[in-house]
Amino acid sequence: MKKRFIAGAKCKNCNAEDTTYINYGQNGESLHCVECEFSEKKESHEANIVVQEWTPVRLRDID
Ligand SMILES: [Zn+2]
Repeated sequence: MKKRFIAGAKCKNCNAEDTTYINYGQNGESLHCVECEFSEKKESHEANIVVQEWTPVRLRDID
């Protein structure tokens, strides 16, 4: 598993700076803190973004 510390990030739990890292696992990314037991599953929104199709814009007829 890969770890990457987030520069300048504050732990949501203990408020320590530069202690939060992302763990890259097979099931996605999760946030962890080295100072406390904080861990949070990070939903990879970026990967799940589906490019939306253009929505037809219905223009009002101009009188
Ligand atoms: Zn913490």
